Amino acid sequence: MSVTTDILVIGGGATGLGVARDAVLRGFKTILLEKGDLAHGTTGRYHGLLHSGGRYVVRDPHSAADCYRENLILKRLMPAAIEDTGGFFAALPEDPPDYVDKFVAGCQAAGIPAEEVPLALALREEPLLNPETVRIFRVPDASCDSFDALHLLTENVRAAGGDVRLRHKVVRIVRKGMRVTGVEAENILTGERIAFQAQLVINCAGAWGGQIAKLADCHVEVLAGKGTMVAMNVRMVHTVLNRLKPPSDGDILVPIGTVAVIGTTEIVVDNPDQYAMEDSEIDLLLAEGEKLIPRFRDFRPLRAWAGVRPLFKEHKVPVETDSRLISRSHAILDHAARDGVEGLITLSGGKFTTLRLMAEQALDLACRKLKTERPCRTAETPIDPPAKPFYTLGQRLKAVESAPKSADVICECELVTRAQVEEALGHSGSLVLNDLRRDLRLGMGPCQAGFCAYRAAGLLHELLAVPSGLEVRAINSALVEFLQERWKGMRPLLWGANLRQLELDQNIYRNLLGVERLPLQREPEEYPTEKTA
Ligand SMILES: Cc1cc2nc3c(=O)[nH]c(=O)nc-3n(C[C@H](O)[C@H](O)[C@H](O)COP(=O)(O)OP(=O)(O)OC[C@H]3O[C@@H](n4cnc5c(N)ncnc54)[C@H](O)[C@@H]3O)c2cc1C
Repeated sequence: MSVTTDILVIGGGATGLGVARDAVLRGFKTILLEKGDLAHGTTGRYHGLLHSGGRYVVRDPHSAADCYRENLILKRLMPAAIEDTGGFFAALPEDPPDYVDKFVAGCQAAGIPAEEVPLALALREEPLLNPETVRIFRVPDASCDSFDALHLLTENVRAAGGDVRLRHKVVRIVRKGMRVTGVEAENILTGERIAFQAQLVINCAGAWGGQIAKLADCHVEVLAGKGTMVAMNVRMVHTVLNRLKPPSDGDILVPIGTVAVIGTTEIVVDNPDQYAMEDSEIDLLLAEGEKLIPRFRDFRPLRAWAGVRPLFKEHKVPVETDSRLISRSHAILDHAARDGVEGLITLSGGKFTTLRLMAEQALDLACRKLKTERPCRTAETPIDPPAKPFYTLGQRLKAVESAPKSADVICECELVTRAQVEEALGHSGSLVLNDLRRDLRLGMGPCQAGFCAYRAAGLLHELLAVPSGLEVRAINSALVEFLQERWKGMRPLLWGANLRQLELDQNIYRNLLGVERLPLQREPEEYPTEKTA
Protein backbone atom coordinates (compact mmCIF):
# COMPACT_ATOMS: atom_id res chain seq x y z
CA MET A 1 0.00 0.00 0.00
CA SER A 2 1.29 3.51 -0.76
CA VAL A 3 -0.04 6.86 0.47
CA THR A 4 0.89 10.23 -1.02
CA THR A 5 1.04 13.52 0.85
CA ASP A 6 2.63 16.98 0.71
CA ILE A 7 4.11 17.01 4.20
CA LEU A 8 4.84 14.04 6.40
CA VAL A 9 5.54 14.73 10.06
CA ILE A 10 7.34 12.18 12.26
CA GLY A 11 6.48 12.33 15.98
CA GLY A 12 3.22 12.95 17.83
CA GLY A 13 4.53 15.13 20.64
CA ALA A 14 4.00 18.88 21.08
CA THR A 15 6.45 19.72 18.29
CA GLY A 16 4.98 17.32 15.73
CA LEU A 17 1.36 18.25 16.46
CA GLY A 18 2.25 21.96 16.29
CA VAL A 19 3.91 21.39 12.91
CA ALA A 20 1.02 19.29 11.58
CA ARG A 21 -1.49 21.97 12.61
CA ASP A 22 0.51 24.72 10.96
CA ALA A 23 0.98 22.66 7.78
CA VAL A 24 -2.66 21.72 7.42
CA LEU A 25 -3.83 25.29 8.11
CA ARG A 26 -1.53 26.50 5.30
CA GLY A 27 -3.38 24.13 3.00
CA PHE A 28 -0.79 21.33 2.75
CA LYS A 29 -1.98 17.76 2.60
CA THR A 30 -0.49 16.52 5.88
CA ILE A 31 0.09 13.18 7.57
CA LEU A 32 1.60 12.70 11.04
CA LEU A 33 3.02 9.36 12.17
CA GLU A 34 3.54 8.54 15.84
CA LYS A 35 4.93 5.20 17.01
CA GLY A 36 3.02 5.26 20.32
CA ASP A 37 0.06 7.17 21.68
CA LEU A 38 -0.31 10.95 21.70
CA ALA A 39 2.18 12.43 24.19
CA HIS A 40 3.94 9.06 24.35
CA GLY A 41 7.35 10.77 24.48
CA THR A 42 8.68 13.72 26.46
CA THR A 43 5.51 15.78 26.05
CA GLY A 44 3.60 13.34 28.25
CA ARG A 45 6.38 13.46 30.84
CA TYR A 46 7.11 17.16 31.16
CA HIS A 47 6.73 19.45 34.15
CA GLY A 48 3.46 21.07 33.10
CA LEU A 49 4.57 24.70 33.16
CA LEU A 50 3.44 27.16 30.54
CA HIS A 51 6.42 29.47 30.93
CA SER A 52 5.96 33.20 31.31
CA GLY A 53 9.59 33.52 30.21
CA GLY A 54 10.73 34.71 33.65
CA ARG A 55 12.99 31.69 34.02
CA TYR A 56 15.04 32.68 30.98
CA VAL A 57 15.24 36.48 31.19
CA VAL A 58 18.82 36.59 32.43
CA ARG A 59 20.44 33.72 30.56
CA ASP A 60 18.45 33.71 27.30
CA PRO A 61 16.39 36.88 26.74
CA HIS A 62 15.34 35.82 23.20
CA SER A 63 13.83 32.65 24.53
CA ALA A 64 12.20 34.56 27.39
CA ALA A 65 10.45 36.97 25.01
CA ASP A 66 9.34 34.03 22.80
CA CYS A 67 7.88 32.25 25.83
CA TYR A 68 5.87 35.27 26.96
CA ARG A 69 4.42 35.90 23.50
CA GLU A 70 3.54 32.24 23.04
CA ASN A 71 2.17 31.93 26.57
CA LEU A 72 -0.42 34.62 25.72
CA ILE A 73 -1.28 32.99 22.39
CA LEU A 74 -1.72 29.47 23.82
CA LYS A 75 -3.85 30.77 26.70
CA ARG A 76 -6.14 32.32 24.11
CA LEU A 77 -6.14 29.28 21.78
CA MET A 78 -6.64 26.44 24.21
CA PRO A 79 -8.01 27.56 27.56
CA ALA A 80 -9.48 24.07 27.97
CA ALA A 81 -6.00 22.63 28.53
CA ILE A 82 -4.49 25.51 30.50
CA GLU A 83 -5.09 26.64 34.05
CA ASP A 84 -4.17 30.27 34.45
CA THR A 85 -2.63 29.81 37.88
CA GLY A 86 -0.23 32.75 37.67
CA GLY A 87 3.25 32.36 39.07
CA PHE A 88 5.57 33.75 41.71
CA PHE A 89 9.35 34.10 41.66
CA ALA A 90 10.44 33.95 45.29
CA ALA A 91 13.93 34.94 46.48
CA LEU A 92 14.91 33.03 49.63
CA PRO A 93 17.60 34.22 52.05
CA GLU A 94 20.18 31.86 50.52
CA ASP A 95 19.51 32.99 46.91
CA PRO A 96 22.02 35.46 45.36
CA PRO A 97 20.63 38.97 46.09
CA ASP A 98 22.18 40.48 42.96
CA TYR A 99 20.07 38.14 40.79
CA VAL A 100 16.89 40.04 41.70
CA ASP A 101 17.99 43.21 39.88
CA LYS A 102 19.06 41.20 36.84
CA PHE A 103 15.69 39.45 36.84
CA VAL A 104 13.75 42.73 37.06
CA ALA A 105 15.83 44.32 34.28
CA GLY A 106 15.50 41.18 32.14
CA CYS A 107 11.71 41.08 32.52
CA GLN A 108 11.49 44.75 31.55
CA ALA A 109 13.67 44.20 28.48
CA ALA A 110 11.64 41.16 27.38
CA GLY A 111 8.31 42.91 28.06
CA ILE A 112 7.29 40.36 30.71
CA PRO A 113 5.08 41.85 33.43
CA ALA A 114 6.75 41.09 36.77
CA GLU A 115 5.15 42.90 39.67
CA GLU A 116 6.76 42.93 43.11
CA VAL A 117 4.25 41.79 45.72
CA PRO A 118 4.39 42.49 49.48
CA LEU A 119 5.24 39.25 51.28
CA ALA A 120 2.13 39.53 53.47
CA LEU A 121 -0.08 39.52 50.36
CA ALA A 122 1.81 36.59 48.82
CA LEU A 123 1.40 34.66 52.08
CA ARG A 124 -2.32 35.35 52.07
CA GLU A 125 -2.50 33.80 48.59
CA GLU A 126 -0.03 30.99 49.31
CA PRO A 127 -0.09 30.43 53.09
CA LEU A 128 2.44 27.57 52.96
CA LEU A 129 5.12 29.61 51.20
CA ASN A 130 8.37 30.00 53.14
CA PRO A 131 7.77 33.05 55.40
CA GLU A 132 11.50 33.82 55.24
CA THR A 133 11.06 34.80 51.57
CA VAL A 134 13.01 38.00 50.99
CA ARG A 135 11.38 39.36 47.83
CA ILE A 136 8.62 38.01 45.61
CA PHE A 137 7.35 38.88 42.10
CA ARG A 138 4.16 37.89 40.30
CA VAL A 139 4.44 36.69 36.67
CA PRO A 140 1.94 35.25 34.17
CA ASP A 141 3.03 31.57 34.43
CA ALA A 142 0.33 28.92 34.04
CA SER A 143 0.02 25.15 34.14
CA CYS A 144 -0.93 23.10 31.12
CA ASP A 145 -2.15 19.54 30.77
CA SER A 146 -0.18 18.21 27.82
CA PHE A 147 -2.52 15.24 27.27
CA ASP A 148 -5.50 17.56 26.86
CA ALA A 149 -3.46 19.99 24.76
CA LEU A 150 -2.39 17.28 22.32
CA HIS A 151 -5.93 15.95 22.06
CA LEU A 152 -7.09 19.45 21.15
CA LEU A 153 -4.36 19.90 18.56
CA THR A 154 -5.09 16.49 17.05
CA GLU A 155 -8.81 17.18 16.78
CA ASN A 156 -7.94 20.50 15.14
CA VAL A 157 -5.58 18.86 12.63
CA ARG A 158 -8.13 16.19 11.76
CA ALA A 159 -10.98 18.71 11.47
CA ALA A 160 -8.88 20.69 8.98
CA GLY A 161 -8.33 17.57 6.85
CA GLY A 162 -5.00 16.30 8.25
CA ASP A 163 -4.30 12.67 9.05
CA VAL A 164 -2.83 11.71 12.46
CA ARG A 165 -1.86 8.04 12.70
CA LEU A 166 -0.92 6.64 16.08
CA ARG A 167 1.01 3.35 16.60
CA HIS A 168 2.78 3.91 13.28
CA LYS A 169 6.52 3.61 13.65
CA VAL A 170 8.76 5.02 10.94
CA VAL A 171 11.23 2.23 10.18
CA ARG A 172 12.79 3.51 6.99
CA ILE A 173 13.39 6.81 5.25
CA VAL A 174 13.24 6.36 1.50
CA ARG A 175 15.88 8.21 -0.51
CA LYS A 176 16.24 8.48 -4.27
CA GLY A 177 19.82 9.65 -4.67
CA MET A 178 20.24 12.77 -2.59
CA ARG A 179 16.49 13.34 -2.11
CA VAL A 180 14.19 11.98 0.57
CA THR A 181 10.97 10.91 -1.15
CA GLY A 182 9.05 9.41 1.76
CA VAL A 183 9.11 6.90 4.57
CA GLU A 184 8.06 3.39 5.36
CA ALA A 185 6.11 2.85 8.56
CA GLU A 186 4.98 -0.18 10.46
CA ASN A 187 1.56 -0.30 12.06
CA ILE A 188 2.75 -1.79 15.32
CA LEU A 189 -0.67 -3.23 16.17
CA THR A 190 -1.07 -5.19 12.94
CA GLY A 191 2.51 -5.44 11.68
CA GLU A 192 1.41 -3.99 8.33
CA ARG A 193 4.07 -2.00 6.45
CA ILE A 194 2.89 1.15 4.67
CA ALA A 195 4.83 3.34 2.23
CA PHE A 196 4.28 7.09 2.36
CA GLN A 197 5.46 9.40 -0.39
CA ALA A 198 5.92 13.04 0.57
CA GLN A 199 7.29 16.23 -0.92
CA LEU A 200 8.80 17.04 2.45
CA VAL A 201 9.44 15.01 5.60
CA ILE A 202 9.69 16.91 8.90
CA ASN A 203 11.46 15.05 11.69
CA CYS A 204 9.89 16.02 15.04
CA ALA A 205 10.96 12.92 16.93
CA GLY A 206 12.40 14.84 19.89
CA ALA A 207 15.06 12.88 21.75
CA TRP A 208 14.77 10.22 19.02
CA GLY A 209 15.43 12.80 16.28
CA GLY A 210 19.03 11.67 15.82
CA GLN A 211 17.85 8.10 15.17
CA ILE A 212 15.41 9.32 12.52
CA ALA A 213 18.05 11.47 10.80
CA LYS A 214 20.33 8.43 10.74
CA LEU A 215 17.71 6.53 8.74
CA ALA A 216 18.33 9.14 6.03
CA ASP A 217 22.12 8.84 6.46
CA CYS A 218 22.30 12.28 8.07
CA HIS A 219 24.10 12.87 11.34
CA VAL A 220 22.32 14.94 13.97
CA GLU A 221 23.62 14.81 17.51
CA VAL A 222 20.73 14.98 19.95
CA LEU A 223 21.73 14.35 23.56
CA ALA A 224 19.07 13.01 25.91
CA GLY A 225 18.85 15.22 29.02
CA LYS A 226 16.89 13.25 31.58
CA GLY A 227 14.84 15.29 34.05
CA THR A 228 13.13 13.74 37.08
CA MET A 229 10.04 15.13 38.82
CA VAL A 230 7.99 14.16 41.87
CA ALA A 231 4.21 14.63 42.16
CA MET A 232 3.01 15.27 45.71
CA ASN A 233 -0.49 13.97 46.29
CA VAL A 234 -1.78 17.29 47.58
CA ARG A 235 -2.06 20.48 45.60
CA MET A 236 -0.51 22.50 48.41
CA VAL A 237 -0.10 25.62 46.21
CA HIS A 238 -2.37 27.12 43.61
CA THR A 239 0.25 29.32 41.95
CA VAL A 240 3.40 28.17 40.14
CA LEU A 241 6.31 28.81 42.52
CA ASN A 242 9.76 29.48 41.03
CA ARG A 243 12.95 30.22 42.94
CA LEU A 244 14.38 33.64 42.09
CA LYS A 245 17.93 32.52 41.28
CA PRO A 246 19.81 31.22 38.24
CA PRO A 247 17.91 28.16 36.92
CA SER A 248 18.95 24.95 38.65
CA ASP A 249 17.58 21.63 39.89
CA GLY A 250 14.34 21.39 41.86
CA ASP A 251 13.52 25.08 41.69
CA ILE A 252 9.92 25.01 40.39
CA LEU A 253 6.72 23.74 41.99
CA VAL A 254 3.75 23.48 39.59
CA PRO A 255 0.14 22.87 40.69
CA ILE A 256 -1.55 20.59 38.14
CA GLY A 257 -4.99 19.09 38.62
CA THR A 258 -5.07 17.53 42.06
CA VAL A 259 -1.29 17.41 42.63
CA ALA A 260 1.74 19.69 42.86
CA VAL A 261 4.89 18.70 40.98
CA ILE A 262 8.41 19.57 42.09
CA GLY A 263 11.13 19.43 39.44
CA THR A 264 13.34 18.96 37.72
CA THR A 265 16.84 17.54 37.55
CA GLU A 266 18.97 17.26 34.44
CA ILE A 267 21.39 14.44 33.72
CA VAL A 268 22.54 13.46 30.22
CA VAL A 269 21.84 9.76 29.57
CA ASP A 270 23.03 7.46 26.77
CA ASN A 271 19.66 6.12 25.70
CA PRO A 272 16.31 8.02 25.67
CA ASP A 273 14.50 4.70 26.21
CA GLN A 274 16.53 3.47 29.17
CA TYR A 275 17.19 5.51 32.25
CA ALA A 276 16.69 5.22 35.97
CA MET A 277 15.54 7.71 38.56
CA GLU A 278 18.31 8.01 41.14
CA ASP A 279 17.68 8.20 44.89
CA SER A 280 19.91 11.28 44.95
CA GLU A 281 17.54 13.05 42.51
CA ILE A 282 14.52 12.30 44.71
CA ASP A 283 16.37 13.51 47.83
CA LEU A 284 17.41 16.69 46.08
CA LEU A 285 13.89 17.44 44.80
CA LEU A 286 12.29 16.93 48.20
CA ALA A 287 15.00 19.01 49.90
CA GLU A 288 14.50 21.86 47.42
CA GLY A 289 10.71 21.60 47.87
CA GLU A 290 11.26 21.99 51.60
CA LYS A 291 13.00 25.31 51.02
CA LEU A 292 10.00 26.75 49.15
CA ILE A 293 7.38 25.12 51.39
CA PRO A 294 8.58 24.34 54.93
CA ARG A 295 7.54 20.80 56.00
CA PHE A 296 7.15 19.85 52.34
CA ARG A 297 8.24 16.30 53.19
CA ASP A 298 5.24 15.93 55.51
CA PHE A 299 3.08 15.71 52.40
CA ARG A 300 2.95 12.36 50.66
CA PRO A 301 5.10 12.05 47.54
CA LEU A 302 2.87 10.11 45.18
CA ARG A 303 4.92 9.23 42.19
CA ALA A 304 8.21 10.00 40.45
CA TRP A 305 8.82 10.02 36.72
CA ALA A 306 11.33 11.33 34.25
CA GLY A 307 11.34 12.70 30.72
CA VAL A 308 14.18 13.33 28.29
CA ARG A 309 14.96 16.73 26.81
CA PRO A 310 16.22 16.65 23.26
CA LEU A 311 19.47 18.65 23.53
CA PHE A 312 20.68 19.50 20.05
CA LYS A 313 24.45 19.74 19.69
CA GLU A 314 25.88 21.11 16.47
CA HIS A 315 29.51 20.35 15.57
CA LYS A 316 29.25 19.82 11.90
CA VAL A 317 29.08 23.23 10.29
CA PRO A 318 29.50 26.83 11.42
CA VAL A 319 26.28 28.43 12.58
CA GLU A 320 26.23 30.97 9.68
CA THR A 321 25.93 28.26 7.03
CA ASP A 322 23.47 26.17 8.97
CA SER A 323 19.74 26.70 8.84
CA ARG A 324 19.24 27.09 12.57
CA LEU A 325 16.69 29.82 12.92
CA ILE A 326 16.41 32.69 15.36
CA SER A 327 15.98 31.30 18.85
CA ARG A 328 18.95 29.59 20.42
CA SER A 329 16.70 27.22 22.30
CA HIS A 330 15.60 25.16 19.30
CA ALA A 331 17.16 24.19 16.02
CA ILE A 332 15.58 23.88 12.58
CA LEU A 333 17.91 21.96 10.31
CA ASP A 334 17.51 21.95 6.56
CA HIS A 335 19.36 18.79 5.56
CA ALA A 336 19.75 20.12 2.01
CA ALA A 337 21.96 22.96 3.26
CA ARG A 338 23.59 20.83 5.93
CA ASP A 339 24.12 17.41 4.37
CA GLY A 340 23.13 17.87 0.73
CA VAL A 341 20.01 15.73 1.30
CA GLU A 342 16.84 17.37 -0.07
CA GLY A 343 13.32 16.84 1.26
CA LEU A 344 14.10 16.53 4.98
CA ILE A 345 13.91 19.01 7.84
CA THR A 346 14.73 18.21 11.48
CA LEU A 347 13.18 20.30 14.24
CA SER A 348 14.89 19.73 17.56
CA GLY A 349 14.90 21.07 21.11
CA GLY A 350 12.74 23.92 22.35
CA LYS A 351 9.95 23.89 24.88
CA PHE A 352 6.34 22.88 25.08
CA THR A 353 5.49 26.57 25.56
CA THR A 354 6.99 27.53 22.18
CA LEU A 355 5.48 24.69 20.14
CA ARG A 356 3.48 27.05 17.91
CA LEU A 357 6.40 29.37 17.19
CA MET A 358 8.75 26.50 16.33
CA ALA A 359 6.14 25.14 13.94
CA GLU A 360 5.70 28.56 12.31
CA GLN A 361 9.44 28.83 11.68
CA ALA A 362 9.68 25.26 10.37
CA LEU A 363 6.74 25.78 7.98
CA ASP A 364 8.16 29.12 6.77
CA LEU A 365 11.26 27.15 5.79
CA ALA A 366 9.10 24.39 4.25
CA CYS A 367 7.26 26.98 2.12
CA ARG A 368 10.56 28.42 0.88
CA LYS A 369 11.77 24.95 -0.01
CA LEU A 370 8.54 24.06 -1.78
CA LYS A 371 8.57 27.47 -3.49
CA THR A 372 5.13 28.52 -2.35
CA GLU A 373 3.89 31.47 -0.30
CA ARG A 374 1.38 30.52 2.34
CA PRO A 375 1.15 32.65 5.47
CA CYS A 376 1.03 31.10 8.93
CA ARG A 377 -2.48 31.12 10.40
CA THR A 378 -1.96 29.28 13.66
CA ALA A 379 -1.99 32.29 16.00
CA GLU A 380 -5.36 33.58 14.78
CA THR A 381 -7.21 30.37 13.97
CA PRO A 382 -9.23 29.34 17.00
CA ILE A 383 -9.11 25.76 18.23
CA ASP A 384 -12.60 24.41 18.85
CA PRO A 385 -13.30 23.91 22.52
CA PRO A 386 -13.53 20.23 23.40
CA ALA A 387 -16.78 18.55 24.34
CA LYS A 388 -15.56 18.25 27.91
CA PRO A 389 -14.62 21.43 29.83
CA PHE A 390 -11.31 22.13 31.60
CA TYR A 391 -10.60 19.28 33.97
CA THR A 392 -11.17 19.74 37.67
CA LEU A 393 -12.00 17.04 40.15
CA GLY A 394 -14.87 19.16 41.50
CA GLN A 395 -16.47 19.27 38.09
CA ARG A 396 -16.29 15.50 37.75
CA LEU A 397 -17.80 15.14 41.22
CA LYS A 398 -20.67 17.38 40.17
CA ALA A 399 -21.26 15.29 37.05
CA VAL A 400 -21.15 12.04 39.02
CA GLU A 401 -23.50 13.36 41.69
CA SER A 402 -26.01 14.76 39.24
CA ALA A 403 -26.19 11.54 37.18
CA PRO A 404 -26.16 8.81 39.80
CA LYS A 405 -27.60 6.12 37.54
CA SER A 406 -25.10 6.30 34.73
CA ALA A 407 -22.22 7.06 37.03
CA ASP A 408 -20.56 3.72 37.66
CA VAL A 409 -17.28 5.03 39.00
CA ILE A 410 -14.28 3.09 37.69
CA CYS A 411 -11.49 5.23 39.20
CA GLU A 412 -12.49 6.79 42.53
CA CYS A 413 -9.40 9.00 42.87
CA GLU A 414 -9.95 10.83 39.58
CA LEU A 415 -13.73 10.15 39.40
CA VAL A 416 -13.59 8.45 36.01
CA THR A 417 -16.92 6.85 35.14
CA ARG A 418 -17.77 3.80 33.07
CA ALA A 419 -19.43 6.09 30.50
CA GLN A 420 -16.17 8.03 30.09
CA VAL A 421 -14.15 4.83 29.68
CA GLU A 422 -16.63 3.54 27.10
CA GLU A 423 -16.43 6.79 25.16
CA ALA A 424 -12.62 6.91 25.25
CA LEU A 425 -12.29 3.28 24.18
CA GLY A 426 -14.82 3.82 21.41
CA HIS A 427 -12.63 6.65 20.18
CA SER A 428 -9.18 5.10 20.50
CA GLY A 429 -9.94 1.39 20.15
CA SER A 430 -6.66 0.98 22.05
CA LEU A 431 -5.87 -2.07 24.12
CA VAL A 432 -3.25 -0.14 26.09
CA LEU A 433 -4.43 0.91 29.55
CA ASN A 434 -1.84 3.65 29.65
CA ASP A 435 -3.65 5.28 26.73
CA LEU A 436 -6.76 5.37 28.89
CA ARG A 437 -4.70 7.00 31.63
CA ARG A 438 -3.49 9.68 29.22
CA ASP A 439 -7.05 10.22 27.96
CA LEU A 440 -8.86 10.34 31.31
CA ARG A 441 -6.26 10.48 34.11
CA LEU A 442 -7.39 6.98 35.12
CA GLY A 443 -5.06 5.55 37.76
CA MET A 444 -3.22 8.81 38.43
CA GLY A 445 -4.60 9.47 41.91
CA PRO A 446 -3.47 8.46 45.41
CA CYS A 447 -4.12 4.69 45.05
CA GLN A 448 -2.09 4.60 41.82
CA ALA A 449 -4.56 2.31 40.03
CA GLY A 450 -4.99 -0.04 43.00
CA PHE A 451 -8.75 -0.13 42.55
CA CYS A 452 -9.31 0.88 38.93
CA ALA A 453 -6.82 -1.23 36.97
CA TYR A 454 -8.78 -4.48 37.20
CA ARG A 455 -12.08 -2.70 36.51
CA ALA A 456 -10.65 -0.94 33.45
CA ALA A 457 -9.15 -4.26 32.28
CA GLY A 458 -12.62 -5.81 32.61
CA LEU A 459 -14.08 -3.07 30.42
CA LEU A 460 -11.29 -3.51 27.86
CA HIS A 461 -12.21 -7.17 27.70
CA GLU A 462 -15.94 -6.57 27.46
CA LEU A 463 -15.85 -3.70 24.98
CA LEU A 464 -12.86 -4.43 22.76
CA ALA A 465 -11.62 -7.99 23.17
CA VAL A 466 -14.90 -9.94 23.17
CA PRO A 467 -16.42 -8.20 20.10
CA SER A 468 -13.24 -8.74 18.06
CA GLY A 469 -12.61 -12.29 19.29
CA LEU A 470 -9.27 -11.42 20.93
CA GLU A 471 -7.79 -13.81 23.42
CA VAL A 472 -7.92 -12.83 27.07
CA ARG A 473 -4.11 -12.97 27.07
CA ALA A 474 -4.09 -9.55 25.35
CA ILE A 475 -6.06 -8.04 28.25
CA ASN A 476 -3.85 -9.76 30.83
CA SER A 477 -0.82 -8.19 29.16
CA ALA A 478 -2.49 -4.77 29.15
CA LEU A 479 -3.20 -5.11 32.87
CA VAL A 480 0.31 -6.26 33.78
CA GLU A 481 1.97 -3.52 31.71
CA PHE A 482 -0.23 -0.86 33.30
CA LEU A 483 0.53 -2.08 36.83
CA GLN A 484 4.21 -2.29 36.05
CA GLU A 485 4.27 1.33 34.89
CA ARG A 486 2.38 2.54 37.98
CA TRP A 487 4.63 0.60 40.35
CA LYS A 488 7.74 1.87 38.61
CA GLY A 489 6.79 5.43 39.57
CA MET A 490 6.05 4.49 43.19
CA ARG A 491 9.24 2.51 43.77
CA PRO A 492 11.61 5.48 44.31
CA LEU A 493 9.24 6.76 47.04
CA LEU A 494 8.72 3.71 49.20
CA TRP A 495 8.22 4.97 52.70
CA GLY A 496 5.24 5.97 54.85
CA ALA A 497 1.86 6.13 53.14
CA ASN A 498 3.26 5.26 49.72
CA LEU A 499 4.82 2.06 51.01
CA ARG A 500 1.54 1.07 52.66
CA GLN A 501 -0.33 1.85 49.44
CA LEU A 502 2.01 -0.28 47.33
CA GLU A 503 1.71 -3.17 49.78
CA LEU A 504 -2.07 -2.98 49.51
CA ASP A 505 -1.95 -2.78 45.69
CA GLN A 506 0.46 -5.70 45.51
CA ASN A 507 -1.72 -7.77 47.81
CA ILE A 508 -4.72 -7.12 45.59
CA TYR A 509 -2.96 -7.95 42.33
CA ARG A 510 -0.36 -10.51 43.35
CA ASN A 511 -1.98 -12.42 46.18
CA LEU A 512 -5.68 -12.02 45.48
CA LEU A 513 -5.80 -11.86 41.70
CA GLY A 514 -2.55 -13.74 41.01
CA VAL A 515 -1.45 -11.52 38.13
CA GLU A 516 1.97 -13.20 38.01
CA ARG A 517 0.34 -16.46 36.98
CA LEU A 518 -1.89 -15.04 34.25
CA PRO A 519 -1.20 -16.25 30.69
CA LEU A 520 0.21 -13.27 28.78
CA GLN A 521 0.29 -12.32 25.13
CA ARG A 522 3.77 -10.82 25.45
CA GLU A 523 6.43 -10.79 28.13
CA PRO A 524 6.58 -7.49 30.01
CA GLU A 525 9.95 -5.79 29.64
CA GLU A 526 10.33 -5.43 33.34
CA TYR A 527 8.11 -6.82 36.04
CA PRO A 528 8.91 -5.81 39.61
CA THR A 529 9.81 -8.74 41.83
CA GLU A 530 9.08 -8.96 45.55
CA LYS A 531 12.66 -7.96 46.18
CA THR A 532 12.71 -4.75 44.18
CA ALA A 533 9.14 -3.70 44.85
C1 LIG B 1 11.88 16.89 32.56
C2 LIG B 1 11.35 17.89 31.57
C3 LIG B 1 10.52 18.92 31.99
C4 LIG B 1 10.06 19.85 31.07
N1 LIG B 1 9.23 20.84 31.50
C5 LIG B 1 8.76 21.75 30.63
C6 LIG B 1 7.86 22.75 31.08
O1 LIG B 1 7.47 22.78 32.25
N2 LIG B 1 7.42 23.65 30.17
C7 LIG B 1 7.81 23.61 28.86
O2 LIG B 1 7.38 24.47 28.10
N3 LIG B 1 8.65 22.66 28.40
C8 LIG B 1 9.13 21.73 29.25
N4 LIG B 1 9.96 20.74 28.83
C9 LIG B 1 10.30 20.67 27.42
C10 LIG B 1 9.18 19.99 26.64
O3 LIG B 1 8.66 18.91 27.36
C11 LIG B 1 9.70 19.48 25.33
O4 LIG B 1 10.37 20.51 24.65
C12 LIG B 1 8.60 19.01 24.42
O5 LIG B 1 7.65 18.23 25.11
C13 LIG B 1 9.23 18.18 23.33
O6 LIG B 1 8.24 17.76 22.47
P1 LIG B 1 8.64 16.95 21.18
O7 LIG B 1 7.40 16.79 20.41
O8 LIG B 1 9.78 17.61 20.50
O9 LIG B 1 9.18 15.55 21.72
P2 LIG B 1 8.33 14.29 22.20
O10 LIG B 1 7.17 14.68 23.01
O11 LIG B 1 9.31 13.34 22.78
O12 LIG B 1 7.76 13.71 20.84
C14 LIG B 1 8.55 12.96 19.94
C15 LIG B 1 7.70 11.82 19.48
O13 LIG B 1 8.36 11.13 18.42
C16 LIG B 1 7.95 9.79 18.49
N5 LIG B 1 8.84 8.95 17.70
C17 LIG B 1 10.14 8.65 17.96
N6 LIG B 1 10.61 7.81 17.02
C18 LIG B 1 9.60 7.59 16.15
C19 LIG B 1 9.47 6.78 14.97
N7 LIG B 1 10.48 6.03 14.53
N8 LIG B 1 8.28 6.79 14.33
C20 LIG B 1 7.23 7.52 14.77
N9 LIG B 1 7.30 8.28 15.89
C21 LIG B 1 8.47 8.32 16.57
C22 LIG B 1 8.00 9.49 19.99
O14 LIG B 1 7.22 8.37 20.33
C23 LIG B 1 7.48 10.79 20.59
O15 LIG B 1 6.11 10.73 20.91
C24 LIG B 1 10.43 19.77 29.72
C25 LIG B 1 11.25 18.72 29.29
C26 LIG B 1 11.69 17.78 30.20
C27 LIG B 1 12.53 16.65 29.76
